[in-house]
Amino acid sequence: MCGIVGYTGFRQARPILLEGLKRLEYRGYDSAGIAIQCNGGVEVKKKAGRIANLESNIRPDTLNGTCGISHTRWATHGDPTDVNAHPHLDASGRIALVHNGIIENYQSLRTYLEHRGVEFKSETDTEVLVQLIGHFYSDDLETAMRAALRDVRGTYGVAVICSDEPGKIVAARKGSPLILGIGDGEFVVASDAAAIIQHMTQVIYLSDGEMATLWDDGFRTTTLDAVPVTKEVTELEMTLEDIELGQHEHFMLKEIMEQPVALEDCMRGRVNVQDGRIHLGGLAAMARELAQTKRLILTGCGTAWHAGLVGEYLFEDIARIPTEVEYASEFRYRNPVLNPGTVVIAISQSGETADTLAALREARDKGAIALGIVNVVGSTIARETDSGVYLHVGPEIGVASTKAYLGQVLVLAMIALFLGRRKDLSQPALQHYLEALDSLPEKIRQITAQSQEIRVVADRFKDAENWLYLGRGYNYPTALEGALKLKEISYIHAEGMPAAEMKHGPIALITKDMPVVFIATKNSQYDKIISNIEEVRARKGRVIAVATEGDTEITRLAEHVFYVPDVPEALQPMVTVVPLQLLAYHAAVLRGCDVDKPRNLAKSVTVE
Ligand code: GLU
Repeated sequence: MCGIVGYTGFRQARPILLEGLKRLEYRGYDSAGIAIQCNGGVEVKKKAGRIANLESNIRPDTLNGTCGISHTRWATHGDPTDVNAHPHLDASGRIALVHNGIIENYQSLRTYLEHRGVEFKSETDTEVLVQLIGHFYSDDLETAMRAALRDVRGTYGVAVICSDEPGKIVAARKGSPLILGIGDGEFVVASDAAAIIQHMTQVIYLSDGEMATLWDDGFRTTTLDAVPVTKEVTELEMTLEDIELGQHEHFMLKEIMEQPVALEDCMRGRVNVQDGRIHLGGLAAMARELAQTKRLILTGCGTAWHAGLVGEYLFEDIARIPTEVEYASEFRYRNPVLNPGTVVIAISQSGETADTLAALREARDKGAIALGIVNVVGSTIARETDSGVYLHVGPEIGVASTKAYLGQVLVLAMIALFLGRRKDLSQPALQHYLEALDSLPEKIRQITAQSQEIRVVADRFKDAENWLYLGRGYNYPTALEGALKLKEISYIHAEGMPAAEMKHGPIALITKDMPVVFIATKNSQYDKIISNIEEVRARKGRVIAVATEGDTEITRLAEHVFYVPDVPEALQPMVTVVPLQLLAYHAAVLRGCDVDKPRNLAKSVTVE
C-alpha cells in the first residue's frame, strides 16, 4: 500500500533512502523504517510517526553502508507502532524485509512457523514473510525468497536484504507496484518513480509475478519461477520540478493552480481546432469497433468514480451510448452481465487502485473490451487494458485529487466527442466543442485567480460541521466531488446529492447554521435549481452558489456567489469544481489541517 525504497551502489544508502521516503510522504503513511547492511550485519531503525521522527532518532555512527531498504507503512494488520513498522527481521536477524500489500494467509503460516519454534515480534502479516524466507534460507536469498513466495497468498511489493550477501537486494511484485531505477554502478528499487527521479531517469517497470535481483554492479529480472525475462528500459517522463513544491504552500494548492497547464498538456496533439478533429492515438486503431459499442461501463473509486459519473452524462449526451457507472469494489464481486459489444473503461489516477484493477480483470475475463484512463505511465492498469488514454497532467502529489479529476473528465469528454463524431455528432457541433475546449484553460485561470475571495468565504463558514452540496444534471457529480474534497482534507461532514433528492429526506437537516452549496450555472436545469435554492432559503439555510458570470439574479438568493465563465453545459463540470476545490483547501488550512497528509488517507489505494 505504501512506500518502498531500496538502494545498492557506491554511495551511502542512508541519505538516499530517507530522501526517497520523503518523496513518497504524499502517499500517506503512519510509520517509517530503514535497514542497512553494515559491519557484517543488518542494522534497523524504525519509528511510528513521520519520517522526520525516524531521522531524528538515527545516531550518526549507525546505519552507514551502501546497500539498504526502507519503508513507509500504512498499517493494515496491527497498530501503527515502532514494533509493527517495517523493515522486519527474520529470527536469525540476518534478513530484513519491507513489504507493501497484504499476506492473506498469514495466520496459518504464522501458526506453522510458531510450531517450529519461530518467535514473532510484531502483529503484522508482513513478518510472516520474512520469517518464512529465513526458514528456507541456506546460502542464497533469491532461492529462499522464491520458496517463500510460493507459499504466500495475497498481494505484495517486497524488497529484501541479507547480511550474508553484501550489496544484494532481491525484490518481487504481485499486485503492488515496483520500479527499478538503473544507474551507472548503482540501482534503486522503489514503489513510486518519485523516489527515483532525483538519481536516475532510466527505469524498468516490474510486472506482476516478476522478481529482480540487484547487486552493486548489475541486475537480473526473472519470473517468480526463475525464468529469465528481458525487460524494456524506459525513460521516466516526470521531472524533479513536477514533484517539488516551488513557491506554493501545499501540493494541493500547487496542483489546483496548475490545472490550466495540466489541461493544456492533456489536450496537446489531441484537440485540433484548425483541422476540426479529436485525435486520440491510443484509440485510433479501434475507433470503428468502439463506435459500435452497445453498452459502456465506467468504473473507478472515489474521485475517479465521480469523473465516471460526468462521463455517463457525456457519453449518453454526445455519443448516444447507453452508459453506466459502477463502483469498482461492487462491480468486481457482482458477477456482472457483460454481453458482446460491452466496453469497460477503468478510471484511476495511479493506475494501481486495487478494486479498479480487479474490476478491469473481471471485465476482461468476461470478454469485454477494456480501456484505461490513468495518469501514471507504465502503471498496471495501463499495461493490462486493451488500450487507453493517459491523462498527461503530470504527477499528482496532493492526496485529495484535483488536477487528475479535471484530467479524467477532460479525457472522458474527448473520448465522447471522438466516438460521437463517428455516430450522430455533426462537424459544426464538434467544432463548437473543440473551440470551447481550447478556451477552457484560460477560463480556469480566471477562477483560480479568485482564490483569496474564496478564502474569505471559507473563513466565514469553516466552523460549520455539516454541509450540503447540491446540483442537477452535469452539476450533480460536481456536488459529490465538492463534498468529498471538503470531507477529505478538512474533516467537516459534507454530503453531495442531486438537488431534487433534498426534498426526499435531507431537507430535514437544514437549519440556519447549515451551509448549502448550490452548483447553479446557466444550463437546461437552471430554473429548477433556483426553485431548490428558494426551498433552502425558506428554511433559513445559508446558501453559497457557484454561478455563471453575469448572473445577477442569483445574488438576490445566495449569501455568496463564486462566478465561473460560461461554457457549454457538457463542459461545465470542469469549471464548476474549481471554486469548490479552493473552498475545501482554504477551509482545511484555516482549520489547521495538514492538507497534503490528511489523516487516514493514502494516495493510491492498492488494498481492498
Ligand atoms: N500489511 C502490511 C502491514 O500492515 C503492509 C502495509 C503497507 O503496505 O504499508 O504491515
